[in-house]
Amino acid sequence: MQHIEIKKLLQMEPSLHTVNVKGWVRSFRSNRFIALNDGSTINNIQCVIDFESYDKELLDRITVGSAIHVAGVLKESQGRGQAVEIEVKEIEILGDADTEEVKKTILSPKRHTLETLREQAHLRARTNTIGAVMRVRSALSFAIHKYFQENGFFHMHSPILTASDAEGAGEMFHVTNFDLDNLPKDENGKVDHSKDFFGKTANLTVSGQLEAETYAMGLGKVYTFGPTFRAENSNTTRHLAEFWMVEPEVAFYDLDNNMDLAEDFIKYVIKYALEHCADDLAFLEERLNKEEQNKPQSERTGMLLREKLQFVIENTFKRVSYTEAIDILKDSKPNKKGKFKYPIDAWGADLQSEHERFLVEKHFKKPVILFDYPADIKAFYMRLNEDGKTVRAMDVLFPGIGEIVGGSQREERYDVLLDKVKNMGIDEKEVWWYLDIRKFGSVTHSGFGLGFERLVLFVTGMTNIRDVIPYPRYPNHLEF
Ligand code: ATP
Ligand code: MN
Repeated sequence: MQHIEIKKLLQMEPSLHTVNVKGWVRSFRSNRFIALNDGSTINNIQCVIDFESYDKELLDRITVGSAIHVAGVLKESQGRGQAVEIEVKEIEILGDADTEEVKKTILSPKRHTLETLREQAHLRARTNTIGAVMRVRSALSFAIHKYFQENGFFHMHSPILTASDAEGAGEMFHVTNFDLDNLPKDENGKVDHSKDFFGKTANLTVSGQLEAETYAMGLGKVYTFGPTFRAENSNTTRHLAEFWMVEPEVAFYDLDNNMDLAEDFIKYVIKYALEHCADDLAFLEERLNKEEQNKPQSERTGMLLREKLQFVIENTFKRVSYTEAIDILKDSKPNKKGKFKYPIDAWGADLQSEHERFLVEKHFKKPVILFDYPADIKAFYMRLNEDGKTVRAMDVLFPGIGEIVGGSQREERYDVLLDKVKNMGIDEKEVWWYLDIRKFGSVTHSGFGLGFERLVLFVTGMTNIRDVIPYPRYPNHLEF
């Protein structure tokens, strides 16, 4: 007989029909109450068994972590905390879990740190916290596609393997099928990449933007949503070596349109999560709340998770030019008191996450969109403003996260772009195709990149990016 998901079961009315459930035992109390979870929801179904009707041998196999199949009748629950429970009629062990072995793992029913969960990442989907995070992650991923598909965007699969390293977004991972112990060399003793698989050096992509731009010039509105890779040796709670990026690119959009899109898009997906992940968010809110209690007063946000999400949806993001932001930062208390690790003394400074967070968390107290950055600290493809020194770039900054989105209006003028390419020492031949689209009906266009894990971090209230992706990749970590 077909089994039914616990999520559905918990919404059903009690009846006399037999229902079948399958799941993993979370706890077994008094030889009578089994808390069963199948991953469909954070909530367990309570299965009540009459132990006198079963062999001790069978009962002994109902242990934490084991998988069972239960057939029974859905009844109104006598206990507190759930509306319905199952009165067990039949029970079948699907997979045993040795109690002594379980004790050594994160499946054992006691508090485990997130670090320990990471070390057992192959088991952590069974925990409440990671289970909730991954369900929210999945919902957000769906909401992203839904938003773009409903707004006339086409999903474009940008390549993962690329030859270009022009983007300058970060250090790249090289891809080769050379025998590394026996590399072919040219007459100068350098590795001869012409003999490699692609006949040239190859890398894992750091962004699908350049390719997305070419498609926006044909399809109008496109978005990519795929894995990107950066070999940056940054051991932070906001960086991964492999992360997922959402990159819309739109023809005929200027920077204002781009900021509107980013704001509307982010609000939409957060709202979607609030509406579709109520139980998981309630759990994560409680978790975060407990964590906050252990922090000094000054570091607490004073807002519950869902209040924070609601706040973002209901408030207009503050749009501030880089130049205004520098003035604010220069005059700020932490700057004057020497509290910033990187003091702000002049226009042109690159903003660090401490500055971004000051603006968002202390000064404006809401999400901020910074725009019109100095050309020197931004990528070559951003559109030069009339002042000749700033570019039409924008970053969306979020509380607790810092930069969540980076985007720009792209340089559509062939000559200006070519100059930029040359000045930045980029090989013209390498980006010929990118320059080429500026020759045939080139138009104003814009786009941005949203780091998907940073969004998941914000929505789930987790603090480390390594806990919001199933198998995090970062320096010295490639287990699993
Ligand atoms: P940061 O300054 O935070 O390193 P960036 O300027 O390198 O970010 P972009 O190149 O603009 O970021 O990438 C677009 C988005 O991708 C960022 O806004 C961020 O959300 C996300 N992102 C960038 N690098 C990483 C990373 N290593 N791990 C996870 N997300 C990242
Ligand atoms: Mn970076």
